[in-house]
Amino acid sequence: MAEVLVYVDHVDGAVRKPTLELLTLARRVGDPIAVHLGPGAEEAAKVLGEHGAVKVLAADAPEFGDYLVVPKVDALQAAYEAVSPAAVLVPSSAEGKEIAARLAVRIGSGIITDAVDLEAGDEGPVATQSVFAASFTTKSRVTKGTPVITVKPNSASPEAAPAAGAVEQLAVSFGEQATGTKVVSRTPRESTGRPELTEAAIVVSGGRGVNGAENFPVIEGLADSLGAAVGASRAAVDAGWYPHSSQVGQTGKSVSPQLYIAAGISGAIQHRAGMQTSKTIVAINKDAEAPIFDLVDYGVVGDLFDVVPQLTEEVKTRKG
Ligand SMILES: Cc1cc2nc3c(=O)[nH]c(=O)nc-3n(C[C@H](O)[C@H](O)[C@H](O)COP(=O)(O)OP(=O)(O)OC[C@H]3O[C@@H](n4cnc5c(N)ncnc54)[C@H](O)[C@@H]3O)c2cc1C
Repeated sequence: MAEVLVYVDHVDGAVRKPTLELLTLARRVGDPIAVHLGPGAEEAAKVLGEHGAVKVLAADAPEFGDYLVVPKVDALQAAYEAVSPAAVLVPSSAEGKEIAARLAVRIGSGIITDAVDLEAGDEGPVATQSVFAASFTTKSRVTKGTPVITVKPNSASPEAAPAAGAVEQLAVSFGEQATGTKVVSRTPRESTGRPELTEAAIVVSGGRGVNGAENFPVIEGLADSLGAAVGASRAAVDAGWYPHSSQVGQTGKSVSPQLYIAAGISGAIQHRAGMQTSKTIVAINKDAEAPIFDLVDYGVVGDLFDVVPQLTEEVKTRKG
């Protein structure tokens, strides 16, 4: 069977969920070979093997942490040359897309970014994308070179499929450009204890209807009861009520969780662009005519300050 390279997104060997989703999708196309760069390959290999990686190509070098993406591109290219895969899959983070794009240019291949699904086709993998503010779904296939495809988080449920997951060292030599952009400082973001917005299975977002930073704990309370991430509309972040990093939409983050709850958000096209591919959408809005109700699975017409606390209590009660 053909082999498929899967670029591993991890923190010191703790593999992030989008990579496990990629392994699940990769198995539809071929035998997944994981590419793990940086520390923790042995630890990562256990979980990668459990999710179908037949092999883990590993490389560690200070360059991966000390410089921006180019050393990682050098390494992924080395893996590509060692394996001659049928496709290269990379998680659709900002860094992932840059790595994938640079690799595609180097190897003269076509690239598809932000796929939301992947299936095997007679002439190579077929990727599904959700485009034009999610008003169209397209299917496409790379027609030149080895398909390089980035896949959005939450595009598949990770499935266990035990495979060998044996670690093999990958020899990497860094090119001149690898040290072109040095990381000069790092400040860890203060942890909220909540899941990362773009990876969360549930997102609860607040908009202008929240009416002030002091009211956002109402949204956070529901999010915490559900183990969800907190998002916000641009109106809410522009007003300074919530950090810009939490903005969902065309000029914010794209999310595609299992469940998206929008409270006090009207549903402007630019907001929809970032959340319309969510599997189940719930809106709470006091205006029955709000456009968000056109796309919801469940809608509650009501004041969010009445509805959200009751919902939070109900979730807590049911969870026991
Ligand atoms: C180029 C461009 C890019 C943009 N990018 C983005 C983007 O990435 N993300 C984004 O979100 N927007 C973006 N916008 C802005 C977008 O057009 C809207 O202005 C914005 O999404 C509105 O945010 P909102 O729904 O919170 O506010 P509003 O449109 O003001 O809606 C507030 C809603 O809250 C309801 N409400 C009020 N009080 C309550 C209450 N107590 N209980 C229940 N409901 C209540 C109201 O009925 C209303 O429907 C962009 C705009 C442009 C031009």
